[in-house]
Amino acid sequence: MPIIKQIIKAPTKHWVGNGFNVHGYFDEFTEATSPFLMLDFAAKKSFEPSTLQRGVGDHPHRGFETVTFAYHGGVQHRDSAGNVDVINAGDVQWMTAGSGIIHQEFFEEGFNSQGGDFEMIQLWINLPAKHKMTPPKYQALKSSQIPKIIIDNVDISVVAGSFSTGTKASLDATKGVAKTFSDLNVYQLNSTRDQSSLVEFQIPATHRSMMLVLNGQVEVAGSQIDQKSLVIFGDNSDHISIKSNTQYQILFLSGEPLNQPIAHYGPFVMNTQDELIQAFADYHGGKFEGVKLASPKS
Ligand code: MN
Repeated sequence: MPIIKQIIKAPTKHWVGNGFNVHGYFDEFTEATSPFLMLDFAAKKSFEPSTLQRGVGDHPHRGFETVTFAYHGGVQHRDSAGNVDVINAGDVQWMTAGSGIIHQEFFEEGFNSQGGDFEMIQLWINLPAKHKMTPPKYQALKSSQIPKIIIDNVDISVVAGSFSTGTKASLDATKGVAKTFSDLNVYQLNSTRDQSSLVEFQIPATHRSMMLVLNGQVEVAGSQIDQKSLVIFGDNSDHISIKSNTQYQILFLSGEPLNQPIAHYGPFVMNTQDELIQAFADYHGGKFEGVKLASPKS
């Protein structure tokens, strides 16, 4: 049976750049949530039409992955590895910073000029020590490529790992699309009707797990969970059961803890202080620069 270790209700919002107004659920960078380092939720917010670029300009990362989930609006991405992409509703962007990348994340031009609802999540996932200096990589996971299953009229997207109802684990697992560097699961659950539903699934007992309820209300482990709440499950929560009578949207995460020291400063997440100092030296020494980043048209 899952035990809830902690429920974090919508923390005060802060701005990341001038486009992302986010609830930051955890960013202590400890092994307690390993392999997950940070989760920022830009809850649905309406933006006026604008000619001013909104988002975050060129900045570096090293030693981990940034994963962006789009729900409303669009983000234009450019990076020093040469990737240029737009993430729209339903898409997931899985960027491996690895040995070093510089990128920019702006509202997509058309969306910015028309305005409208914007809703995104950005998740930071740590890389195991032996993969921290892997070459940068970019996985554009378009909505149509993400495997989906339906249980009790709830749509479940298996972004990473595998999803199993547990009855015949080895037989019915649905595999996710993202390639990952450690053992982890990422699911998106979406109940689009006001109806009673029950979704049950099995995850490895050794995983750390959590889920964010973006909207709606659900019952897990005997507790009612409101929208914008993050549930952190206790150890040995291998069987998850989500009940509801309403529409809801959930991001569910679980992963094998990496059990390694974390040295974090700003946009770098390494294992030691020396590696952090090296990251700054390499960045300022121009070692992250690959393709020159063009500014988006304004
Ligand atoms: Mn970034």
